Amino acid sequence: MSSSSLSSSLPSPASSHPLAPYGWDASWESEFTPYAEQGLLAGRVVRVDRGQCDVVTADGVLRADTAFVTPHDPLRVVCTGDWVAVEPAGDPRYVRDCLPRRSAFVRSTSSKRSEGQILAANVDHAVVAVSLAAELDLARVERFLALAWESGARPLVVLTKADLVGDPVTVSHLVEDVEGAAPGVPVCAVSALGGDGLDVLGAAVAGGTSVLLGQSGAGKSTLANALVGEDVMRVHATRDVDGKGRHTTTTRNLLVLPGGGVLIDTPGLRGVGLWDAEAGVGQVFAEIEELARECRFHDCAHGTEPGCAVLAALDDGRLAQRRLDSYRKLQRENQWIVAKTDARVRAELRRDWKRKGAQGRAAMELKRGRRG
Ligand code: GDP
Ligand code: ZN
Repeated sequence: MSSSSLSSSLPSPASSHPLAPYGWDASWESEFTPYAEQGLLAGRVVRVDRGQCDVVTADGVLRADTAFVTPHDPLRVVCTGDWVAVEPAGDPRYVRDCLPRRSAFVRSTSSKRSEGQILAANVDHAVVAVSLAAELDLARVERFLALAWESGARPLVVLTKADLVGDPVTVSHLVEDVEGAAPGVPVCAVSALGGDGLDVLGAAVAGGTSVLLGQSGAGKSTLANALVGEDVMRVHATRDVDGKGRHTTTTRNLLVLPGGGVLIDTPGLRGVGLWDAEAGVGQVFAEIEELARECRFHDCAHGTEPGCAVLAALDDGRLAQRRLDSYRKLQRENQWIVAKTDARVRAELRRDWKRKGAQGRAAMELKRGRRG
């Protein structure tokens, strides 16, 4: 993989701003204008803690109360990574508003009602860590990628522990395998131990906010250490075992990377492996996925696209309509489970499905017309 394929096209940074290392850019600046006019301070939430949050501002890290911005919708609750407007003074000092999120990661709850817990906001890169110490499970990679895409962040796959494979030719074949399962997603191999590939990864995440996803044991903590630097992480870890709620400026779930960019590392996100338990749509419907690989377009929605192998199989009876219907249903449900993003994203998904549904019906009618 060339490092250019990873270079980001994020809004240009307002680089002279003291918050630029935290991801402040021209676009946040313009969204913040009305708040600035009210004398409010711009800041990014680096930690949340029962009704309060730590916000990094141009004046340093401030503790603020979130009572004003605590709505009934749990997905609207202020979380790490949010950009907020904070009162310049006061005791307590309040967060007055939260800027609209560009993306959000939400943990699904076991309840059927789609109430999630918001884990991280305004994430640009979802780094999916996949260990090369075990056999590649592409279906699992795809589920993490689905989670990443649904959040609004852009995924990239990092194959970790490349040193355990040894042979660089084998490593590059594994990279190609994953690239095949992840169209449009950059894939790289690293060894946090030996340091190979860390420069490429560091450059890829330098332009924005990242989170690390992946199974437990995939090497996320080791990777975070390598990216952030041992010292910062040790402070971070010490704080984790302390757990007394003591407030220090080093206590953050959002960390500035020495090579540029920001890493959000919350305990909840580490546990995102929870999603592993889901039955993979791809595994359950292997034959449809197989057919779909023959479609002319790799992103074919099997609706109205020309050269669709799935619709062709439906036509000549190799594929049962019932089977395709339940595939689509599970796919939709799976999206709900993995998405659980904020209301705006949910609304977009809903619109998308409506559009696809309409396309599908139109295609069916067209076909019926042709036959009759
Ligand atoms: P996490 O659960 O995803 O945070 O995974 P960890 O970072 O705790 O790593 C799991 C195990 O893999 C640990 O024993 C690490 O020492 C090991 N590990 C992580 N990165 C590498 C690497 O680059 N090379 C090798 N050989 N082992 C690694
Ligand atoms: Zn198709």
